[in-house]
Amino acid sequence: MWRKSGFFARILHDTPISLRESLAFMEKQRACSIYTVGSIAFIGGIYGIFNAVTQRDPLVLALRIAFLALLGAGSLVYFVTRKFNVAKYPIYAGLLLLIFTTFHDAGGITGLGLFFILPALPILYIAVGSRASSAFAVFAGLGMVARILYGHYPVTSVLNQPGAPLRMIVVVLFSTAVVILVFHRIDVLMAQLTQLVMTDWETGLSGRWKFREVLRNRFVRKTGTGLQESFSLVGFRIINYERVNAMEGPSRSDAVLQAVGSRLKGWREHVEITCRWHSSLFLTLLDTGDFLEVDSTCRDLLAVLSKPVDIDGRPVSLLCSVAVTRFPDDFEDPDGVDEAEKMVGHVLSTLDRHGNMPDELIFFNKKMHQAERYRYGLLESLVKADFDSGLSLQYQPKVRFADGTCAGAEVLMRWNHPILGSVSPVDFIPLAEESGSIRRLTRKMIRQVFLDLRSPEFLEALGSTPPIIAINLSVNDLTNQDLLPFLNRELKVSPIEPSWIEFEITEGVLLGDNPWIRINLENLLILGFRLAIDDFGTGYSSLSYLQRLMVHDLKIDQSFVRELSEGNAKANSSVIDAIVSMGKSLGLEITAEGVETEYQAAYLAERGCDLAQGWLYSKSLPFGDFVAYYKAHQAVLSGQ
Ligand code: C2E
Ligand code: CA
Ligand code: CA
Repeated sequence: MWRKSGFFARILHDTPISLRESLAFMEKQRACSIYTVGSIAFIGGIYGIFNAVTQRDPLVLALRIAFLALLGAGSLVYFVTRKFNVAKYPIYAGLLLLIFTTFHDAGGITGLGLFFILPALPILYIAVGSRASSAFAVFAGLGMVARILYGHYPVTSVLNQPGAPLRMIVVVLFSTAVVILVFHRIDVLMAQLTQLVMTDWETGLSGRWKFREVLRNRFVRKTGTGLQESFSLVGFRIINYERVNAMEGPSRSDAVLQAVGSRLKGWREHVEITCRWHSSLFLTLLDTGDFLEVDSTCRDLLAVLSKPVDIDGRPVSLLCSVAVTRFPDDFEDPDGVDEAEKMVGHVLSTLDRHGNMPDELIFFNKKMHQAERYRYGLLESLVKADFDSGLSLQYQPKVRFADGTCAGAEVLMRWNHPILGSVSPVDFIPLAEESGSIRRLTRKMIRQVFLDLRSPEFLEALGSTPPIIAINLSVNDLTNQDLLPFLNRELKVSPIEPSWIEFEITEGVLLGDNPWIRINLENLLILGFRLAIDDFGTGYSSLSYLQRLMVHDLKIDQSFVRELSEGNAKANSSVIDAIVSMGKSLGLEITAEGVETEYQAAYLAERGCDLAQGWLYSKSLPFGDFVAYYKAHQAVLSGQ
């Protein structure tokens, strides 16, 4: 993400810094050096004026005053305009004047003043760059030598000592050469660093920093008529790269990347820039937003890129997919705010959604993207959702066909999103499973149900038969090694009869190959909980597992019940009949879900179903209302 934060904080946290930020940082360094040179020179200048006055040298005095004035003017211009291009002229002139003055007065009273110029050079490098500061160093060095050879020194100068001028010339020339060499090396280093940042070392394509800058600037390009120029962004991914990496080893898969990189380099039609974004994902900027042009260009690309790559004489086959987004077509209302980021996001989300379809060219779809964003938004808020902020539990009564009494309930989760309103569990439970939040939600739910079942109002409503309270478990709950320890802890905190709780699992769960599923299911039974198979008949049923695992209840999926209507009975009852007779022969209780009509109820009761759940009896209710329902429907039993 390109969120802005402190430059140093970003460096410390190893977060990528954009080129723009690093250029701004360099600009700050330059400003800092200009002010440093300026203030040192200012102090030196005042000291020089003081010397010139005591030595009564009017020329030096005038030169020093002029130097200070030029330096002050340059700094002021820079301070106001922030443009070194303008400020540099008075500053350069001032520096030349300073050197000239130093030559003229032979480095002051002792003759060592010349050497003050040398330490200033590195700072000058940052301020004015390598070329100007090297030229300055040469000029200063040669000037110093000339001054030492031909100048007239004051009697107090060290240069009057025998042998001193020669030694000093050697020092000056050597220092000048070293300084220039260092400048050159720093330049090479900077160029290499820039190169590293700008290019991808693996493929030789551009790096993502450079690509971002080019893409950002692309949004401001206008046509002759003042409209924004159209263009497109193409994302290209090697779908089987991870597999190639795992099977072929890192060096051969690197060779695959290099081969793909050189194919992309050879692809020039409409291409402005191509980069490796990360791993096996490449982005290309095309200079056209025309659908047909983009379509045909990308199809050509796909054909070229999908060909096997020859590595060490052995072909490695590639599965690729390409996603495209176009500007301005795919933008509702370009507002200039992080459009580049949005555009990359379009391509990445399109690849993410369809990225596993080989040899596909997929165009960004606004509607799908919005749906995807909605899902993502839900997922994000689900991570924070809790029972005191939108989530709640509802109890849907389960009724006995035999006598109409309430046997208990299925606990269902409800989510009232602060902005989106009520979100169906059909939408949010799969998201919670995908994001891993389901474990947290299930635990919260179990904790709440145990508390509810210990409430005095519920205990008071209990009849002679123990209640059955059904809780849905997802695969993620069952693969969790901590499920049983958690339930044990909860049973200690809220002691309830485990046989009151029936955990509902879907058939698919039984087929999962994670050994923890079987361990957990068996331990749930050992602890005394009941098990039910939910939505029975819709998945692949493992009958052998059903027999081995002593589940208590089969819940006939509501899709079968829904089809039961007077005119339709013959065609659809056979599945129900089969489930009931199989369940009965396994000694299981049968619950029919989604019972909405008297006809369905009568049919199911007649076939031998034990329990019913559905709107014919009650919709799901808040706990208090459920307790009232439960109490009222126990009375029937007591009355018999
Ligand atoms: P499910 O476990 O099959 O739950 C039964 C669903 O059928 C519930 O939908 C319930 O409101 C609905 N239903 C009950 N009677 C009728 C009826 O007569 N007619 C019709 N048309 N529908 C009826 P809901 O509450 O929307 O839940 C949908 C699914 O979400 C559940 O299906 C379950 O798979 C999942 N779910 C709900 N709560 C939880 C939970 O706490 N944990 C887990 N893991 N999944 C849950
Ligand atoms: Ca269920
Ligand atoms: Ca169900």
